Amino acid sequence: MSHIFPRHTKSVLPVAARGDGVYLIDSDGKRYLDGSGGAAVSCLGHSDPDVANAIKRQVDTLAFAHTGFLTSHPAESLADRLIAHAPEGIDRVYLVSGGSEAVEAALKLARQYMIEIGQPQRTRFIARRQSYHGNTLGALGTGGNMWRRAPFDPVMVSASHIAPCYEYRGRQEDETAEAYGLRVADELEAELQRLGPETVIAFLAEPVVGATAGAVPAVPGYFKRVREICDRHGILLILDEVMCGMGRTGTLFACEQDGIAPDIVTIAKGLGAGYQPIGAMLCSARIYGAIEQGSGFFQHGHTYMGHATACAAADTVLRKLTEGGLTDRSARMGEVLADALVSEFGQHPHVGDIRGRGLFRGLELVEHRGTKAPFAPDRQVAARFKKAAFANGLICYPMSGTIDGQMGDHVLIAPPFIISEDQIGELVGKLSRTL
Ligand code: PMP
Repeated sequence: MSHIFPRHTKSVLPVAARGDGVYLIDSDGKRYLDGSGGAAVSCLGHSDPDVANAIKRQVDTLAFAHTGFLTSHPAESLADRLIAHAPEGIDRVYLVSGGSEAVEAALKLARQYMIEIGQPQRTRFIARRQSYHGNTLGALGTGGNMWRRAPFDPVMVSASHIAPCYEYRGRQEDETAEAYGLRVADELEAELQRLGPETVIAFLAEPVVGATAGAVPAVPGYFKRVREICDRHGILLILDEVMCGMGRTGTLFACEQDGIAPDIVTIAKGLGAGYQPIGAMLCSARIYGAIEQGSGFFQHGHTYMGHATACAAADTVLRKLTEGGLTDRSARMGEVLADALVSEFGQHPHVGDIRGRGLFRGLELVEHRGTKAPFAPDRQVAARFKKAAFANGLICYPMSGTIDGQMGDHVLIAPPFIISEDQIGELVGKLSRTL
């Protein structure tokens, strides 16, 4: 019997005993192919010797120094490396310990920026329906999952929600992808007009929607229009790349493929690759400069921010993702995975959509492929899929949820970037047996 507190399921979970590349091995010796990298975390697999050595070296030298008093070599090196690869205009890094903390910092930075530039009347955020940006109160309050936030309402954040860019169910038959993208982006304009654009701080979105929708990229043109609308009204664009960032979609930052740069971007998960808890909020000189010239400092902070050991791990992860070529490998193996998924499930009666970028892919599970009708919620397809996958020695990330008003089930596939072609074959074979 485990006494661990957050237990989401009444069933007893297997005990993870060891990691070996793309596999996890439980205490009975059963091997699981980690087809979702946890929740798109383990980009380097489970036994990377370089990260392990970097952690050991750092612990032996300096485990921790409070960033209120001192900085450290690994924190500085990580920040430099992040900025060297960041989207255009982004040149400041705020290091935290995870995704929710990164989003929380982004929301507060955006609000403080508006105060510093003399626009304190801007108090609202706009995000998208069904979005997930973390579980702390600010992140939860901004996210668009009403079921998650309901028990805690009224949350402290003022946020409203527009439609996500979800082509599979959103695009009408006679509509081009481009026209669809502009139509959904223009919901932002309409919402701004409804609220009064001068009252809004920022628009927050994931470039490729992860857990809540199953690797849904926006159609080309959508984010360019969003960027244009934000600029026209002096509203900040915050991109949440906690799940889709760090090479997962085949470029280090997912937004590179949308041809835009945000004002603020959050990352976590893949940055620590499961070896250390770490996240970061990155912003442009314009944002932080206004604060530096104004009150002088960002009114935020956590004890473990910029933790030396976590930074040493993340710096090694980032080096491997960039100089080490692992982000390019995510792009390359992502194509192999996409081809394998299409050839296995392209005509499957219960797979309505195969989507995603890089090693961030999703399958939409439907009752009828032709009508796109979802399975009835009481069939509990996602929960049953997860259980059956486990029995087949596969860990993947199935979810049920309402996507823009429609109940749906999807499976997120996000294996480590070190996965081989043979292992992709094994993953797809296990998915097929599970389905
Ligand atoms: N944003 C997104 C897009 C996420 O997927 C998550 C985690 N699933 C978070 C924020 C929160 O990250 P964490 O769980 O590390 O707090």
